[in-house]
Amino acid sequence: MKPGRLVRRSILLLLAFYLLWLGWRGVSFHRYSGIIEGDATTAADAAPPVFELEGVYHMHSRFSDGHRTMDEIASIAAEAGLDFVVVTDHGAPNRGSLAAAGRRRGVLVLAGTEISTNRGHLAALGFDPPGQDFSRIADNAAAQVAAAGGFTVIAHPYAKTAWSWGPWAGYSGLEILNSEVVAKRAPFRTLLFAPLLLIRPEAALSALVGPPLRETAAWDRWGAERPVHGYFASDAHFAYRGLLRLFHTHVLLDASAAENFAAARRQVFGALREGRFYSAVEAAAEADGFRYWAAHSGRITLMGGTIDPGTDEGGPAGGPVRLTVRTPFAFAHEARLLRNGAAVASGTGPELVYETDVPGSYRVEVFLRERTPLRAGIPWIASNPIFIGKAKS
Ligand SMILES: [Zn+2]
Ligand SMILES: [Zn+2]
Repeated sequence: MKPGRLVRRSILLLLAFYLLWLGWRGVSFHRYSGIIEGDATTAADAAPPVFELEGVYHMHSRFSDGHRTMDEIASIAAEAGLDFVVVTDHGAPNRGSLAAAGRRRGVLVLAGTEISTNRGHLAALGFDPPGQDFSRIADNAAAQVAAAGGFTVIAHPYAKTAWSWGPWAGYSGLEILNSEVVAKRAPFRTLLFAPLLLIRPEAALSALVGPPLRETAAWDRWGAERPVHGYFASDAHFAYRGLLRLFHTHVLLDASAAENFAAARRQVFGALREGRFYSAVEAAAEADGFRYWAAHSGRITLMGGTIDPGTDEGGPAGGPVRLTVRTPFAFAHEARLLRNGAAVASGTGPELVYETDVPGSYRVEVFLRERTPLRAGIPWIASNPIFIGKAKS
């Protein structure tokens, strides 16, 4: 055989293998479904009543460098079954984007803004439009956003414009996963899965998400001293159809969402501000119904909350804090309870209970165990912490 023909044949063979492999990845991708309700009779405590809203945090529209209009984003979000999206167009703030917020196609289209600061990108949420633009100095911007009634989240701290760390200047949280980063951090892998993005975006994206090791380390380091909230961020600029199905943010409200847009906006931003939400790789499995709360001195504290056993009614004599994790899922999973990042308890059943009087930041990660489309080390669900002790400002 001539060498030229051999090379051609080898290339064709490789291509055939690649296409077969890709096809198999697409066909074999299995999104779990079929939630069963937790068996209430085995539960020691009834889960606190909450109203759960599902949405996607961090994306861009045509008001900055996104490829879709607010209306198009709302339509795609409605198709994906979302209750809300948080658009974060670049600016300080992006006033066009803010003015375009509203209820569109039945979806709450909320607007924050992503500020390019001296330390990196800072997402500002829930503020009233300021008279003057926000500072480009991160620590000042955080204070100004807070003064305008809002709060801030450090975006993609270890990629793109990596965050240059200084004091924890009143930020409310940081991004743990960011799908934009995923593609840039693993360009070869992204290229390999690129054709699948067009056919089965959920399969491609689930395979592309890498373990958030540095992000969770930073979360646990800063979070050991104060409540710090972790976000899974879409950061969609294009490919909204796939990206709006990848990471979901589940907020927990104490009442159903208000008809009035301004009131509903306050509810969702209020839950985000207080950390009453959890994040999930929704493309892998439907995560609705996850619950995590604490009971102490007859009081219930939801995720994001702080308990100071020293000053609570009853004081330390009020006994240990009882942490309950409810994972009523019909598929193999493992819930891990972490204190300042180290596992203190785990379980594979629908409920995990842990009692403690040790101060610290307690958060939950849930992993899928069998037939999981996720790579090793990727939490399917990440809760926000319940903070026990005195928080440093
Ligand atoms: Zn950014
Ligand atoms: Zn962004």
